[in-house]
Amino acid sequence: PTVHLDLADRSYDILVEDGLLDSIGSLVQSTGLKGKCALITDSNVGPLYAQRVMDSLDEAGISSSCHTFPAGEASKSMSQSSALCSELINAGHDRASFVLALGGGVTGDLAGFVAAIFYRGVPFVQVPTTIVSQVDSSAGGKTGVNAPEGKNLIGAFHQPRLVVVDPMTLATLPGREYREGYAEAIKHAAIRDEAMIDDLNALDPSDQHPSADLLARNLAIKARVVEEDERETSGTRALLNFGHTVGHGIEASLPYGEMLHGEAISLGTRAALILSEQLNGFPRADSQRILQFLEAFQLPLVLSDHIETDTIMDKLLRDKKFSGGTIHFVLLTKAGSAEVSDQVTLDDIRNAIEQLRTPVD
Ligand code: NAD
Ligand code: ZN
Repeated sequence: PTVHLDLADRSYDILVEDGLLDSIGSLVQSTGLKGKCALITDSNVGPLYAQRVMDSLDEAGISSSCHTFPAGEASKSMSQSSALCSELINAGHDRASFVLALGGGVTGDLAGFVAAIFYRGVPFVQVPTTIVSQVDSSAGGKTGVNAPEGKNLIGAFHQPRLVVVDPMTLATLPGREYREGYAEAIKHAAIRDEAMIDDLNALDPSDQHPSADLLARNLAIKARVVEEDERETSGTRALLNFGHTVGHGIEASLPYGEMLHGEAISLGTRAALILSEQLNGFPRADSQRILQFLEAFQLPLVLSDHIETDTIMDKLLRDKKFSGGTIHFVLLTKAGSAEVSDQVTLDDIRNAIEQLRTPVD
């Protein structure tokens, strides 16, 4: 399937289909992109897939150079982005080139940021290879790196020219990374697509080959939200933070790497469900359908006692979503529908975090 993301002169297609990796050259060509390609990938994905992408570009008459950075969130940094800029200059790239990001969300955010600043901005193509990036991060144009003071604090809005999703690349993803990505998929279902809750529950977590349709449906949800609120000003895009307020607080309370993002978001989702039930009368049965999915994908739902509520509250209040003083918390109103609420108090959040320490009934 093809999802079109409509943003006037920054519109683009998101193509999802098995085997597209070997057609990238002609797909890029048909967007009208010219010039040389700077392929940016990480040290895990490069050895697996970069040659196939370069061969395909070559067949279409597009010359390319490959730039590999060390895999992992630590590479989403100013120093890595400036190192890549220098590499690109030394490889002969200039404003006529374009960037191709091949990898997960880290690669997309970092390479997208490089594309946003290199020669004041060159076009870029996203070729996502993780669940997180194939259901979420590759579309929408948020690019950036982390600051020592916090995640994603430096960045730019820079929409890709094309997104090419090949679900077959997911086969090589480590199981834990594969499963955690689904925290973002159930988020999309919870806020926008009630029927997808059941479709996700029907998946086999060990079969690392979701249908192109399921991925495209997630990207379509992301696309519709971004079309409505590209720069997160009207509030619609903020709905994508469902599960992320408490989730980020938990993530930031732990040493990096102890819990994956999607795992922290799983706990944050349970907290947001507790608050939706309490403050919005959200049906318990619908919460259970969502929790059941997270459990099947072995995502954590119970918070360990060694992570203190005070620490989580402290981290969560530093989150950039709280700038301005008011708490904007995403609650569900019914399955498949969400709102940004300013009725959630700090005590409510604290209580929900405490409830995360009890088993799911
Ligand atoms: P990631 O890019 O680090 O990938 C996870 C791991 O899997 C890495 O070790 C990577 O090398 C490896 N890998 C990737 N694809 C593989 C494949 N096909 N086979 C084998 N190994 C593979 O992490 P991620 O979970 O994809 O993305 C997380 C990042 O995305 C975070 O930095 C987060 O902030 C960002 N993000 C951005 C947005 C956005 O809108 N821009 C949205 C959500 C998340
Ligand atoms: Zn997330």
